[in-house]
Amino acid sequence: MLKDDFNRTATYLRIGVTDRCNLRCRYCMPEEGIDFSKRKDLMSYEEIIKLSKIFRDLGIQKVRITGGEPFVRKDMMHLITELHSIFPTLHITTNATLLQHYLEELKSLKIGGLNISLDTLDRNKFHLITRRDTFNRVIDNIYKSVEANIPTKINMVVMKGVNDQEIPDFIRLGKKLNVEVRFIEAMPFNQLDGNKSVFMSHPEILQLIKEKFEEVSKMNDTSISSSLKYIVDNETVVGIIPAYTRSLCSSCNRIRLTPKGELLNCLYSEKGLNLLELIRSKALNDSQLKGHIKNAVAGKLSSGWEEEEKRDDTIFNSMTTIGG
Ligand code: SAM
Ligand code: SF4
Repeated sequence: MLKDDFNRTATYLRIGVTDRCNLRCRYCMPEEGIDFSKRKDLMSYEEIIKLSKIFRDLGIQKVRITGGEPFVRKDMMHLITELHSIFPTLHITTNATLLQHYLEELKSLKIGGLNISLDTLDRNKFHLITRRDTFNRVIDNIYKSVEANIPTKINMVVMKGVNDQEIPDFIRLGKKLNVEVRFIEAMPFNQLDGNKSVFMSHPEILQLIKEKFEEVSKMNDTSISSSLKYIVDNETVVGIIPAYTRSLCSSCNRIRLTPKGELLNCLYSEKGLNLLELIRSKALNDSQLKGHIKNAVAGKLSSGWEEEEKRDDTIFNSMTTIGG
């Protein structure tokens, strides 16, 4: 078991499989000048699988594949199939631009779920936010994913003055498709201005929803969750993720493996245990490696605020380097 000093158990691992992406979302990365990792510095599929088995033995039950954009990495279905045989619950976060090629296989694998990122329902605004014109493809793939009965959620990063006025339309879309929509607070990870000018907090997002809908009630927290869940008009489940205000750290069960094989206890951690270096050096056997991982997780700080305080830098890298 991976326990930390605050009595939390890590059971959920997010694996960043690449830092590359075919979009350039403004809140995530700059248009140019991104220092993408060299192929040799990324975990190979064999290395991801080896580490995954070690994490399974240490009590990880749920894995999310993320990035960068997972599907830009070659032969991703091979990795998905392998990881699905290791973990009972496998989820993927994707921008859905390439999903049409994989939906059949994901359906037959009975994948745990897809979280699809979509920040606007307007094609021009989508182009403005992502710097790419793939809105129609993404919408089409969201509908196809729902039609294929793959458990699907929609993630929207809320940006004041950019897309906040679309929140009611997203809730209506969630109702129409019967999918959960989650509104995410913008975090400072964009290797640029830290998203400060567009930031909208969880209470502000909630207030906006309450102004537009008659019945908004908090759902009871039944399990560990990264989102605060609400029911709108007695039927539509909506999540708000306090990714910046960090109010759910006390029940956090997540750890992260970056594309370069570094184990991070928190999104806001600056450094972590370099597992890729350790497995490539072959200096440790599996049991020693497990001991190192246990120690690293035991040292997880009480909150993301503490993790941030410990950092030397103030400019945060893109989410893609963390395994977002
Ligand atoms: N490319 C995939 C995607 O966009 O779904 C997976 C990787 S992306 C880094 C994972 C999630 O992080 C997406 O929902 C994205 O919107 C979100 N994200 C990226 N940068 C963010 C930021 N600065 N603040 C909040 N969420 C962010
Ligand atoms: Fe790519 Fe996802 Fe970042 Fe957008 S949020 S640039 S889709 S990694």
